[in-house]
Amino acid sequence: MKPKIIAHGGSRHLGQDEPMRQRAVTDACKEAYEVLLEKSAVDAVEAAIKAMESSEHLNAGVGSYLQIDGTVRMDAAIMKSDLSAGAVLSIEGVEHPISIARRVMETTQHIIISGRLATEFAYCEGFPMYDPRTRPKVEIWLDMMDELRTKTSYEQIFHVDRYLETGKHQLGTVGCVAIDASGAIAAGTSTGGLMKNVPGRVGDSAIIGAGTYCSEHGGVSCTGIGEKILVLSLAKEVVNYLRYEQGVTASEAARHGVEELKSIKAEGGLICIDRGGNMGFAYNTEVMTMHYIE
Ligand code: ASP
Repeated sequence: MKPKIIAHGGSRHLGQDEPMRQRAVTDACKEAYEVLLEKSAVDAVEAAIKAMESSEHLNAGVGSYLQIDGTVRMDAAIMKSDLSAGAVLSIEGVEHPISIARRVMETTQHIIISGRLATEFAYCEGFPMYDPRTRPKVEIWLDMMDELRTKTSYEQIFHVDRYLETGKHQLGTVGCVAIDASGAIAAGTSTGGLMKNVPGRVGDSAIIGAGTYCSEHGGVSCTGIGEKILVLSLAKEVVNYLRYEQGVTASEAARHGVEELKSIKAEGGLICIDRGGNMGFAYNTEVMTMHYIE
């Protein structure tokens, strides 16, 4: 099998920072392709996502949006075509959530570890403490605080602010899917969530079957409004399409996924690779920052 890799830096509305975002995704993909030529699909997916988590232009790891209490809480998942998987939810104080998700997959008998105890797990495993807040994201948070000050109470922010319906959200999650020379596939996704997250909110990205899924039939990483992707179990929907629809390729499956999003008036995108090594992607936002190498 010819090794192939595809990476995304989120689907969103076009912004001035798009060239920087594109550079970060392209560089990460190229770096990870070198890994893919020497090692496995899961090594390459981790390498690509680590590189994107290090970019302050992307919303994952360093550069994640702050939740409304001023804390960065991140979600990440990684999965292989043999169905092994690992994920962390609402993890704080680390640089590379994707590596901790991989450690969960490889060293525990569980699939998801959440919250403070995910952070504790990371430190016990020797990952260093790291503050992922960057100045631009802190400034966005301060502006958001000005806006939220007009609300009468914290409860109203939780229960009344239906901003997901307004289209004023900022996306930018990162993800990668790769297939290696042995035909093994891996997929991963890492995110700082949406811009106006209530503390403790978890999106689709690190939920197996929603934002990330991988089996012998294919691997998928999604981006978009997590609440909408969750109710569709979108990544699994796309892999099921590959599995059950006769002769379907990754491109058709990706388009099917976006049709599903459209059917519930949602925006987003996804990347995928099928068992034949075909790559696919689709989105219905203005742009999905991405790069692939075959
Ligand atoms: N899906 C992510 C979330 O809802 C956001 C994104 O893709 O940019 O957390």
